[in-house]
Amino acid sequence: MTMENDIERVLFSEDQIQARIKELATQINQDYANSKELVVVSVLTGGMMFTIDLFKRISLYASLDCVDLSSYRGATTTSSGTVEVLQDLKHPIAGKDVLVVEDIVDTGRTLKKLMDVLAARGANSIRVCTLFDKPERRVVDVKADYVGLDVPNEFLVGYGLDYNNLYRNLPYVGVLKPSIYQ
Ligand code: 5GP
Ligand code: MG
Ligand code: MG
Repeated sequence: MTMENDIERVLFSEDQIQARIKELATQINQDYANSKELVVVSVLTGGMMFTIDLFKRISLYASLDCVDLSSYRGATTTSSGTVEVLQDLKHPIAGKDVLVVEDIVDTGRTLKKLMDVLAARGANSIRVCTLFDKPERRVVDVKADYVGLDVPNEFLVGYGLDYNNLYRNLPYVGVLKPSIYQ
């Protein structure tokens, strides 16, 4: 059995994802051209793949840091509602331009928590870049400054997105067969 058998349909191919990332990077490179200190903050674990591919296309001086937040617990496809900081940034962000890189914004709770945590640290600016957005699922009022692709209200896996910590290594993004989690 391979992972492919568990995918009902592919939403975005590897090429489609990479093409969109290239566009996002072009925009970011323009917008931050005059930034003195850009810090890219990757939201683990789902944001890893996207961060790496985006970061390689950022042509400005930029540092990289990670934060780990968690709201899912084990084998579930729904968020628990409470978000914890599992691992904080390694470096201060005071005076810097922070670009938060997320895999997907769903209810918005994770991003809201992160913005609340970062807000008091004296950054020069904080913006958010998410690869995927499920706007119809939002329960708290947060908005990403850069959105790769809007997605329907379905449970996605691949390209960093997991089910029970699996499927992150699929190079594309697809919808998981409901039989896998039912
Ligand atoms: P939120 O706090 O916005 O509800 O959810 C954010 C986190 O939930 C994302 O960073 C991601 O880890 C997870 N998540 C939301 N939607 C999906 C999805 O369709 N598939 C997977 N695998 N994870 C999701
Ligand atoms: Mg995430
Ligand atoms: Mg997850």
